[in-house]
Amino acid sequence: MKTYDYIAIGGGSGGVATARRAAEYGARALVVEAARLGGTCVNVGCVPKKVMWYASNIAQTQRDAPGYGFSMSDMAFDWAALKTRRDAYIARLNGIYGNMLEKAGVDVVRGFARFVDAHTIEVEGERFTAPHIVIATGGRPVVPDIPGAELGIDSDGFFALERQPRRVAVVGAGYIAVELAGVFNGLGSEVTMLVRGAQLLRPFDAMLRDELLSQMQEDGVRIAFGTQVRGVTRQADGALRVDCDDGETLEVDALVWATGRRANTDKLDLAAACLAADDKGVIATDAFQNTSVPGIYAIGDITGRAELTPVAIAAGRRLAARLFLNQPDSKLDYDNIPTVIFSHPPIGTVGLTEDEARSRHDDVKVYTTRFTGMYHALTEHRPKTAMKLVCAGPDERIVGAHVIGEGADEMLQGFAVAVKMGARKADFDDTIAIHPTSAEEFVTLR
Ligand code: FAD
Ligand code: NDP
Repeated sequence: MKTYDYIAIGGGSGGVATARRAAEYGARALVVEAARLGGTCVNVGCVPKKVMWYASNIAQTQRDAPGYGFSMSDMAFDWAALKTRRDAYIARLNGIYGNMLEKAGVDVVRGFARFVDAHTIEVEGERFTAPHIVIATGGRPVVPDIPGAELGIDSDGFFALERQPRRVAVVGAGYIAVELAGVFNGLGSEVTMLVRGAQLLRPFDAMLRDELLSQMQEDGVRIAFGTQVRGVTRQADGALRVDCDDGETLEVDALVWATGRRANTDKLDLAAACLAADDKGVIATDAFQNTSVPGIYAIGDITGRAELTPVAIAAGRRLAARLFLNQPDSKLDYDNIPTVIFSHPPIGTVGLTEDEARSRHDDVKVYTTRFTGMYHALTEHRPKTAMKLVCAGPDERIVGAHVIGEGADEMLQGFAVAVKMGARKADFDDTIAIHPTSAEEFVTLR
């Protein structure tokens, strides 16, 4: 049996970050990874998704170019060529992750880990022990249990697609659904979104939801609300027939399930460590990432809180500082986590929605604007940018900042610092605008 100070189960965003920091602080650290280093984000998440989003943006730029005097002949798009280049980039990143861990002095063991007891795990028949074990095994897509569901693909399957489907149905209305629908549509597929509820991005501010809906519809995405898929069948010509409970029938070349994710805890043999997960696989943790068993911690998607890469990384780094840098108070503050949805157009959001603010504070004041960004002054396609600042209290502290539109993805990070620091509307008013930008509207709202 090999002994370490710290074992991270899972070599994704959280596991790699926490093990590297622990090693930097002098701990003998081990990462166990069952698949590819980098986890969801690098292999089937943020990174390949952003590549596809960029590709879709290039297609959009082509549409805008005539407004700037370019006469464009149709630039052909080759999905397979992009996939080859994207896969090569990801393989490079896998290598970089391996090198980073090696340089940091972190051991890596390949294989599937399961608990033997609270301080021991087994991987491919070999046992490893440590006084501190962190579970960072992430999640995987879930697909509804309906006849023919296996004929569809999930987000992992999206990244495996060798050819661009001409007609696509995307089921769901969350982050992944709107992002993938936007990519397919931008690249020229015919897209129908099948949404069980009445809204896209249900938990987000109403302004963002409404604006995204109207802009996606204007861009040609068909969105069917209040509909659930009842069954999927393969037809003689290879196309999929999708039957919905409202009687609607669709014929598509690909069906993408974007119906949520489940934490990867079911095969860890948690009971051997006297641990348990809830019915979604989530492991409960306190503010310090402690589970109910001393010496076992959990970070990232399996904790069911803000399933975002920088959150998994930050939680892991703070945990390493607490355990190995003698910083007993080190923990992640889960308030005011900024996030971007790489929809078309992108969304940036931090803090409370207007509805949340009104339910928590008596005196809420909201500032909004909606305008055509300057880039689109000359283009035929003229999507709007919309912004909202949600302020609370007599000093108008900014408790929420929301933006949808060109550049929102790069715009929000700096404003998130201000919100996190407790900026007031007057601080925004005092800040000189950067002109001509869309971001300047955030500091000139009245
Ligand atoms: P993961 O990164 O999932 O890593 C877990 C690792 O554990 C995996 O490599 C897995 O193979 C391994 N593992 C599982 N079980 C075991 C076991 N028993 N033994 C050994 N290894 C095991 N977040 C953003 O911030 N921005 C984005 O733009 C973004 N886009 C996304 C797009 C998609 C399509 C998806 C699916 C997710 C996206 N996310 C994004 C979310 C982000 O990928 C996750 O929040 C992040 O990867 C979580 O990190 P983690 O360390 O918790 O888990
Ligand atoms: P989300 O929770 O965002 O969305 C799940 C969607 O699936 C919801 O619209 C939900 O509908 C719908 N749904 C659930 N079950 C069914 C069903 N049986 N039939 C039809 N629809 C169903 O999950 P995602 O998988 O999209 O993303 C997971 C997480 O990954 C996100 O929450 C985010 O944290 C992270 N992520 C981050 C990204 C980023 O940072 N840009 C990008 C992608 C993912 P309803 O609204 O009715 O509940």
